Amino acid sequence: MKALAFRAIAKSYGATQALHPLDLEVRPGEFLTLLGPSGSGKSTLLNIAAGHMAPDAGSVMVDGVDVTRLPPRRRNIGMVFQNFALFPHMTVFDNVAYGLRARKVSTTEITRRVSEMLELVQLGGYSARRISQLSGGQQQRVALARSLIIEPDVLLLDEPMGALDRQLRKRLQLEIRRLHQRIGRTMIYVTHDQEEALVMSDRVAVFRDGRLEQIGTSRELYDKPRNTFVAAFLGESNLLAGTVTAIEPGRASVRHAGIPMEIWAPADDGLVVGQAASVLVRPETLSLVAPGDGLPGEIVEVVYLGEMQSMRVRLRDRSSMTVREVGNMHKDLKLGDQVGLRWDADKARVLPQSAGTFATGSDPAGLPETEAA
Ligand code: ADP
Repeated sequence: MKALAFRAIAKSYGATQALHPLDLEVRPGEFLTLLGPSGSGKSTLLNIAAGHMAPDAGSVMVDGVDVTRLPPRRRNIGMVFQNFALFPHMTVFDNVAYGLRARKVSTTEITRRVSEMLELVQLGGYSARRISQLSGGQQQRVALARSLIIEPDVLLLDEPMGALDRQLRKRLQLEIRRLHQRIGRTMIYVTHDQEEALVMSDRVAVFRDGRLEQIGTSRELYDKPRNTFVAAFLGESNLLAGTVTAIEPGRASVRHAGIPMEIWAPADDGLVVGQAASVLVRPETLSLVAPGDGLPGEIVEVVYLGEMQSMRVRLRDRSSMTVREVGNMHKDLKLGDQVGLRWDADKARVLPQSAGTFATGSDPAGLPETEAA
């Protein structure tokens, strides 16, 4: 299992700075996901790792060896693309065997390794089929098998499920995850789908405008996002925007214009009094209480989600917050009902406001407002 490191990698296309100088370490055997909106630089970084593109500055290291100037075929890094890039007229067997034939491996060994690999991706009986006779999900597995058979030190996957429907994606997410656990190879996966990132990864690196915003486990990013962008990009969030009014060790308070109160919540170091900040309250840490208790509000939406129920509550300042409850604790709620809202203060967080936060209802002028992402 090999480590991959990017050191001060930078890349521009003309006037567009696709990557600002960036450092990132991928651990041996790790499944790391690059997550970010379209245009944030994820594919550029992946193509630099594969050697399909040269960085303007910086280096790519595999287990401490500088591979920046090596052509793709000398890096032992595999890549799976969104369009799979399979040979449609060839059989499954020939597609998977392709890399081994190019490396002049003997026929008996090719037969053995291809059938092993097809078993691994659950395509045991399909070796004589043509690619055009396979479903999208099966083609995806052939693409995986073809990349894995050359035993790459690192496997790069660029939105490999982008073209598949949602149900199939969900199944393949778990399959790829199990495959990774079984073969223990270093993998870098690119997606703009936050749920996919949370489900699949050991760690997630969140990108925005060519910069790495934060890297951590799914849980770290969800529980302790560094700013409002990361909070809004991962999971659902209520962001109560306002101004920092006081700071104490490990916590801070924010005054929200619409809610006439100082809201205290845990915070990282580095905030200053007077700066724009938001209090992050995840929907599952909010609860509905009797009217007269907590923040007053009115139910404006109830969505039944099977094992969960999601409710939108409009506050007095006309902003709204989303509440999520497991089970059917409030199954008799109707639109227009008056309720109170409380949240678990230890689970909220004060976050610095990042400009143009990715959140529905976010206010471009940066005026204090409650945002429901
Ligand atoms: P992502 O994979 O996150 O969608 P990309 O790495 O593809 O992002 O793109 C990063 C930025 O670089 C975007 O602004 C994109 O428009 C720009 N870009 C990407 N490829 C090219 C190219 N070949 N020529 C010019 N600009 C490009």
